[in-house]
Amino acid sequence: MSMSRKEFMKTAGKGLMAAGAAAAAPALARGKKKNTQSNGGFKMEIKTRRLELRHAWTIARNTSTYKEYAFVKLEKDGIYGLGEAAHNVRYGESLESIIATLEKARPILEHGDPWQFVDLNAAVQAVCEGQTAAKAAIDIAMMDWIGKSLEIPLYQFWGLDPKKAPRTTFSIGIDTMEMVKQKVEEAAPYPLLKIKMGKENDEEILEAVRSVTNKTLRVDANEGWKDKELALRKVEWLAANGVDLVEQPMPSQMLEETAWVKERASIPIIADESVKTSADIPKLAEAFDGINIKVDKAGGLQESLRMIWMARSLGLKIMLGCMVSSSLSITAAAHLSPLTDFPDLDGNLLLAQDPFTGVRVKDGWLILPDGPGLGVKGSF
Ligand code: MG
Repeated sequence: MSMSRKEFMKTAGKGLMAAGAAAAAPALARGKKKNTQSNGGFKMEIKTRRLELRHAWTIARNTSTYKEYAFVKLEKDGIYGLGEAAHNVRYGESLESIIATLEKARPILEHGDPWQFVDLNAAVQAVCEGQTAAKAAIDIAMMDWIGKSLEIPLYQFWGLDPKKAPRTTFSIGIDTMEMVKQKVEEAAPYPLLKIKMGKENDEEILEAVRSVTNKTLRVDANEGWKDKELALRKVEWLAANGVDLVEQPMPSQMLEETAWVKERASIPIIADESVKTSADIPKLAEAFDGINIKVDKAGGLQESLRMIWMARSLGLKIMLGCMVSSSLSITAAAHLSPLTDFPDLDGNLLLAQDPFTGVRVKDGWLILPDGPGLGVKGSF
């Protein structure tokens, strides 16, 4: 009996879902049998917190001395998950818009089934356009809750080997040359450095950095070079000076020009501002060698995971970036790091005081915590 195309798609879809369920089954089998029946959703608490920075932080766009973010706590059955909304003004996010988005999601969380976190996440994503940091905070808290309820770390829930977490870079912000040198010296424990460029003084910055270290460098131009010939000249000059990749050399919409640079460049060109979610990835495969995934701008861990698989299927390399944020967000991202090539998870290291502890860095290697869920400690 022949099947209509629609019936076939339905059956194939079920098959895929069954495969997904089978992948999660060993994790479920390890712990005690959990009650995964729905009896009401999450209770959500929102708190704002000011995070002071160790140094004023300057990139090509702006300067800041502190960050003020919303944090969420999702509680059910005496277990809670935590999330942080590290918002970004570039994407039209503010503390106010983040809180408004969290409030829009509140009824969905209160009435949804936490164990159906795929559907629950999809419903949260649909509350509005953008505002991904708010959606990420919710998804991080949900996944933390799932891991804690199953009593396993998130990396284990996803079937990942924590020892495969690669070395991370430590970022040096744009500053006076004296401060750049001081920051590079403070970064002694980190073997890979990421340098912010894209302003008038790129040559001066590289000279200052190279006067105090011969470490491998990665450069983030934050869309700073507006002309393709200039961008290529910069990239090749950097390649000749021990730089092994360049992030977002040109403005995000200049894909043809970036493709021109990529074809001629001798080191990988990685998209950051050009990519937010998985929907952006197919059109970038020609212009870039890889993409920078940030959980905060993807809208959460589930979407980040989808981005990783999509990028891999297109042959793209994966950088795992972050915002300047506490160890809560950074640790959430770090659970995905065994699937990535170039982690850049240092946003917590730039804080004067971190309200949470989680992932640690040793000789540049990311050490994931082995507690359940995110494995993050610290009070909400
Ligand atoms: Mg970047």
